[in-house]
Amino acid sequence: MPTRYLIVGQGVAGIAAAEAIRAADAAGEITLLSDDPHGYYSRPGLAYYLTGEISRAHLFPWRDEEFAHMRLGRVQGQARALDPAEHRLLLTNGAALPYDRLLLATGSAAVRPNLPGIDLPQVVTLDNLADAERILALARKAHSAVVLGGGITALEIVEGLHEHCRRVHYLLRGERYWGNVLDEAEGRIVLERLAADGVQVHFHTELAAIEEKRGRVAGVLTTTGKRIPCDLVAAAIGVAPRAELARAASLQVDRGILVDEFLRSSAPDVYAAGDVAQVYDTLVGKALLDTLWNSARSHGAAAGQNMAGGSVRYVKPTPLNVTRLAGITTTIIGSVGSGRDADLVGIARGDSELWRHLGQALVAEDEHAVNRLRLLIGPSTLIGAVLMGDQRLSLPLQRLISEQTDITPIRAQLLAPHAPLAALLTHFAEGTR
Ligand SMILES: Cc1cc2nc3c(=O)[nH]c(=O)nc-3n(C[C@H](O)[C@H](O)[C@H](O)COP(=O)(O)OP(=O)(O)OC[C@H]3O[C@@H](n4cnc5c(N)ncnc54)[C@H](O)[C@@H]3O)c2cc1C
Repeated sequence: MPTRYLIVGQGVAGIAAAEAIRAADAAGEITLLSDDPHGYYSRPGLAYYLTGEISRAHLFPWRDEEFAHMRLGRVQGQARALDPAEHRLLLTNGAALPYDRLLLATGSAAVRPNLPGIDLPQVVTLDNLADAERILALARKAHSAVVLGGGITALEIVEGLHEHCRRVHYLLRGERYWGNVLDEAEGRIVLERLAADGVQVHFHTELAAIEEKRGRVAGVLTTTGKRIPCDLVAAAIGVAPRAELARAASLQVDRGILVDEFLRSSAPDVYAAGDVAQVYDTLVGKALLDTLWNSARSHGAAAGQNMAGGSVRYVKPTPLNVTRLAGITTTIIGSVGSGRDADLVGIARGDSELWRHLGQALVAEDEHAVNRLRLLIGPSTLIGAVLMGDQRLSLPLQRLISEQTDITPIRAQLLAPHAPLAALLTHFAEGTR
């Protein structure tokens, strides 16, 4: 009898698992279940779909032929309950799907703030393609929109709405944008560009209520007593793992489904991967959530191999996030937050002077209105980096940071005042390749 693999979720974690299973087990029956009628598509791509930079078709990396070629069965439906003892999954339509190995790759969902008016139809979050289409439809008719949230998704919505809607208000709780990742200067660059584009940024402002008129959003009231008229409200204040199935089936769940370094949950033959999984990290000795596309893909690949009989230990890769902030391509590598480690030295160069040391620097300056590099330097290695604008150092830095290359030979030079960071790093990276 072929092994029956059931994967709940057709996101990147589920697909990566299916690929890994098929590579290891040519005969297994693989079924992917999804409650999203659109199946597998790029969630990060939704930001570019909102701004109109890519078409809907570009969101879909696989065609039907790819699924057929890999012999992956697809079922559209919503899982309602998991019965680990009987090895079966119950769907809301009454069907029961039996399995030998199950993967829960159900992702995460945007948290909705608890506020008066939050259930009005013009209040939106951005999790999936249906949300993006709803936002687009509403934005085309809206005169004024309010967006709240301090991270990437909030900014993506701001930029998307700005393309379609006359006035966009962006509400920030404090005075910094994404303060747990970006430093003050990086955050300021982003906000200044938004303001220059005509987005109205409101600092130290939170929502108190959403006002309604004839069943529609009419405006918002802020905690500072201000009233902003608007016909659309978007919230991106964080995500929560979709762990309800696991919780109801008494699997061990903290914020996400707790899994060991082999992606195994507390129930036999049940694995979890992606945004929903809280994976045990042997290096730090605790289970961590990691809601990034790259991590979801790596989780899925490891889980798939293990479901097919392998024994692959998931080792958290160096964090990497390539994104665009207010039109500036930004790569964030490793640890860059406001860690208070006395051994760490942070240096930053915002001056485009820096880039003149590279060949074709003039081209780089033309292409990128903003170039900025921040390095987090440990006692003998690079710990993290943020690159805004010119991305030519991105790959060398990814390698130096992930391989923990000993930078002792250039550490003092890097730290010297006005050091030509780009030239030093390029030369050093070439020499250590
Ligand atoms: C707008 C947006 C922009 C983003 N930008 C970036 C970025 O720039 N960089 C980055 O690293 N990450 C980004 N992310 C995060 C990244 O997309 C996620 O980390 C990644 O998609 C998680 O993959 P996943 O497979 O775990 O879950 P998902 O891709 O969320 O897939 C979950 C799947 O589970 C299904 N499902 C859930 N519950 C059930 C159920 N009960 N029954 C049946 N099916 C169910 C869903 O239909 C879906 O198919 C972004 C996310 C969004 C929404």
